[in-house]
Amino acid sequence: MRTITLIVLHCSATRTTQRYTFRQCREDHRKRGWKDIGYHFYISRDGQVHEGRPLWQEGAHCCGHNKHSVGICYEGGLDATGEPADTRTAAQRQSLRALLERLMGMFPSAIILGHRDILQVPSGHDPEDLSFLKNGHSNPATWTKHCPCFDAVLEYEDLEPEGLLKGKEKEEGRM
Ligand SMILES: [Zn+2]
Repeated sequence: MRTITLIVLHCSATRTTQRYTFRQCREDHRKRGWKDIGYHFYISRDGQVHEGRPLWQEGAHCCGHNKHSVGICYEGGLDATGEPADTRTAAQRQSLRALLERLMGMFPSAIILGHRDILQVPSGHDPEDLSFLKNGHSNPATWTKHCPCFDAVLEYEDLEPEGLLKGKEKEEGRM
């Protein structure tokens, strides 16, 4: 098995009014010339968790960070007008949390981030080094993407025994 230090969350960047199935996503990624869908898991609007690439295989979801990460995507991320929005259904939220709990059981030292946050992490980063985050968060001013359109660091902080926000507390305690 690979060493997993990061769990990266994505949205499909499709409108909440439009279906974008696991099959479609897989086909689109294959059309790009990839061997398979880039994500390890895909959560459709009904909350179903589809298995994409096997976990032991590197994904193709986050340039520079695929080697040690797991990629999860949920269907949606844009409102009816095409603006970034947290469009997760209750079923998606429930499945996503259950999946993250399972993955944290397998990779207890991993950290959970949104795609927009990881773009600020230096590649080949030390998981203990949280200096890329300010107050436990990435800086919206430097986002180059909105994906996954919600604050994954904050929402799943409780799942990480040594999470990012706890790292922040430790840092503050030192000051
Ligand atoms: Zn993304």
